[in-house]
Amino acid sequence: MKKLYYENPYLQEFDARVVSCTPVKNGFAVTLDQTAFYPEGGGQPCDIGTLDCANVTDVQDVDGQIIHTCDCALPVGATVHGKIDWARRFDLMQQHSGEHLVSGVVHARFGYDNVGFHMGSDVITIDFSGILTREQLASVERTVNEAIWQNLPCEITYLDRNAPVFYRSKKELTGEVRLVRFPGMDLCACCGTHVRQTGEIGLVKLLSCVKFHDGVRVEMLCGQRAYEYLSKIVEQNHRISGLISAKPDQTAQEVERILAEQRQTKYRLVGCQNELLQIKAQALSGRGNVLCFENDLSGDLLRRFADAVMHQCGGICAVFSGSDAAGYHYAIGQLDGDVRTLVKSLNAALSGRGGGKPAFAQGAVSATQSEIAAFFAEYGMNVTAQQGANYAG
Ligand SMILES: [Zn+2]
Repeated sequence: MKKLYYENPYLQEFDARVVSCTPVKNGFAVTLDQTAFYPEGGGQPCDIGTLDCANVTDVQDVDGQIIHTCDCALPVGATVHGKIDWARRFDLMQQHSGEHLVSGVVHARFGYDNVGFHMGSDVITIDFSGILTREQLASVERTVNEAIWQNLPCEITYLDRNAPVFYRSKKELTGEVRLVRFPGMDLCACCGTHVRQTGEIGLVKLLSCVKFHDGVRVEMLCGQRAYEYLSKIVEQNHRISGLISAKPDQTAQEVERILAEQRQTKYRLVGCQNELLQIKAQALSGRGNVLCFENDLSGDLLRRFADAVMHQCGGICAVFSGSDAAGYHYAIGQLDGDVRTLVKSLNAALSGRGGGKPAFAQGAVSATQSEIAAFFAEYGMNVTAQQGANYAG
């Protein structure tokens, strides 16, 4: 069976004779006398497309037989017209060829092997056997793109065992070894399909690098995928640039400045909140037991307010914040007192939870404001009810 994808990796349509067609789990397994459908292998996903009216959904090389999984049967002996999904194949050729250049440069420069390669539907990952820094990757990326601008040819040869050469390979190979060479950049044993000239890769962008086993996993994009990704990033940056009124190449500096300003603002806000809490607490000076409902007092503020009030009121201070629908958080305290019995009864009466030290407790109840007020009235605690102000920043 002729592998037309090796004779001409740019062949998009072809005619072939159906040699066999057998029903299988996912449809029909079809073999042909020749095919341009590349089977999954060497890290490159298979082609998909059509054979006459049948959709080809999977292509595998099983012991040298190329098996096309089709969604309907094809008559044995008939001549069929095959069409591969060229956009998908060309994209995979761009990714695959770009991967050769990156792996070749990393090997030549740092001696690391490509120990894992995955062409996903979004990004390509390469696992290298050693650590690479951001700076090293940036320099690899530049060299690879320079090789793209030089438009180097892709040369396919077969290993001459009488004239050994060094080539990259994941494993020791026997039999016929197909070598893919990008002159001066890479020589690698590979069964995949590649572009004719490096210029067709268009662009290689290395996106990220994280530690992986004893080396790193690098995410990359080539060709159209790299172009589309960068277009998206430029569009994002354009929007950010407009939102923060910074030039497109100065957005990060401006965001840093805004974040520093925000930290300052938060710091000042905390100062103002503390001052307000003190003023409100002083207003409750000497009132004895107090019950306060405050708006939007979150955990820390709630605690700080209750603490400030209990230092002033001379009794038990109970502060609640929340809503009738969502329930209320509370902080309850008494200077040198013991609120444990009160808090236990409160939790029991109002489906609450929480606790703390003898003199101070925090928690939450599932009850309405009037139910909370009724609890304190029934508890016999003579309270000054205080309706709160807004603290939200
Ligand atoms: Zn290859």
